[in-house]
Amino acid sequence: MVNFFTADISEADPLISNAINDEVRRQVDGLELIASENFVSEAVLEAAGTVFTNKYAEGYPGKRYYGGCEFADVVEQAAIDRAKEIFGAEHANVQPHSGAQANMAVLLAALDHGDTILGMNLSHGGHLTHGHPLNFSGINYKVADYGVDRESEQIDYDALERSAEENRPKLLICGASAYPRTIDFDRIGAIARGVGAKVMADIAHIAGLVATGLHPSPVPHCEFVTTTTHKTLRGPRGGLILTREEFAKVIDRSVFPGVQGGPLVHIIAAKAVAFGEALRDDFKTYQQQILDNAKALADSLSGTGLRLVSGGTDNHLLLVDVYEGGKGITGKEAEKALDEVHITVNKNTIPFDTQKPFVASGIRLGTPALTTRGMKEPEMQKIGEMIAAIVREPKSDDVKTRVREEVAEMAARFPMYRSRGERDANAAG
Ligand SMILES: *Cc1c(COP(=O)(O)O)cnc(C)c1O
Repeated sequence: MVNFFTADISEADPLISNAINDEVRRQVDGLELIASENFVSEAVLEAAGTVFTNKYAEGYPGKRYYGGCEFADVVEQAAIDRAKEIFGAEHANVQPHSGAQANMAVLLAALDHGDTILGMNLSHGGHLTHGHPLNFSGINYKVADYGVDRESEQIDYDALERSAEENRPKLLICGASAYPRTIDFDRIGAIARGVGAKVMADIAHIAGLVATGLHPSPVPHCEFVTTTTHKTLRGPRGGLILTREEFAKVIDRSVFPGVQGGPLVHIIAAKAVAFGEALRDDFKTYQQQILDNAKALADSLSGTGLRLVSGGTDNHLLLVDVYEGGKGITGKEAEKALDEVHITVNKNTIPFDTQKPFVASGIRLGTPALTTRGMKEPEMQKIGEMIAAIVREPKSDDVKTRVREEVAEMAARFPMYRSRGERDANAAG
C-alpha cells in the first residue's frame, strides 16, 4: 500500500494525476488569450498547495473561533497589509472565495432586500453579479441598467446620470468583464453622490493595472472596491474587498458569517505571495507590457481589416466583431476554429448584438497570460495575423495546419511550467 503521507499523486491517483499533466501540457503548448486568465508564479502555486488547506480559521486574525490559528493569522495579516499597501485602501478583506462572493458580500452589506441597484448591462460588458435576472443580484434586488453609446461603443455617462436620477439606486455598480476602455470612476462617484447612492467598483479585470497606476484608481471615489485576485493581478483564484474604515465592520461581517464559513487559508497564503509580487517594481513593467501588447494585437487585427468594438483598447483586452453584421462568422464558430489550432479565446456578445449570448457576434481577447510568458509586440503582431487567417477561412484545413504549426513553434520559444514527469526526468538526467 502506498504511504498516505508521502505518496505522490501519480501513484495515489493516476486518473487525476494524468489529467493534471495533460492540463500542464495544454497550457504550455497553446496560446492563452482568455482575458480573465493568467499564469501564476511557482511560488503562488506552491503556497496554494500547502497544509493550510487543512485549517479551519473562521473569524479574522486575532479573533478566531478555532484554536491553532497562530500561523493562519500570520498569513492572513500579511495578505491584508499587502492588499492595503497595493491599493492605498483603509481596509481589506482577503477572504472572499471568488469575485462573485466578494460582490455578494458587498451587496449584503450595502443593501436591504428589494433595494434598487444600477449596474452595467451584461451585453455591454458588465458582469452577471451586477444584476442579471438569473443571479442573486437580479433575484434579490430591483435592477436598473446602463450601457454604452451606440456610436462610440463607450460608456454613455450622460445616460448613466439620467438613469441614476430616474431610478434613485441605493448602490451604483461599475466595472466590467468585457469593456476595452478606461472607466471614469471619478465621474461615476460624482453621479452617485448626486443621487445619494453608494458605489461598488468591481475591478476584477483591471486590478493589476489599477495596482500599478496604469488605470485610474476607484479607491478615492467609491465606497466599495471588489476584485478577483486571479486575472491581471496574477494571484490564485479568489476575491478581495477594499473599503473605508467606516465600512470595515459591516464588510467583514458580511463576508463571514454573512456569505461564507471558513476561509481558504491556503489560498489566502497564495494571495499574500501574489500581493508581495505585485508590490515589486517589475510588476509595473509587466502591467505596462500587457498594455503595449494589447495595443500591438489591436493594431495587427485592425490591420487585417477586422473591426474592434470601440475602435481599439485602453486596457488589457479587446473585443473583435467577427460577425460583421452577417459578412463574417459567429463568435461561437470563431472560438471553435481557434480552439482547433490551440489559440484559446472566448466568444462574447458585442454591444447591441443581434446574436444570442451563446452564439455571439464577437470574441474577447486579452494579453495578460501571454505577457506573463514573456511575449512582446512582435508575437502579438503575428498572433493577430494568425487569428485573422482562421476567422477569414475557418474551414480551410491548409490554413489550420499552417497556423497550428506556427502556434506550436511560438509556444515552444516561451517555456513555462513543466509536468511532474518532465521535472523528475530533468532531475534524474
Ligand atoms: C471575473 C469577474 C467576476 C467574478 O469572478 P469569479 O471569481 O469568477 O466569481 C466578477 N466581476 C467581474 C467584473 C468579473 O470580470
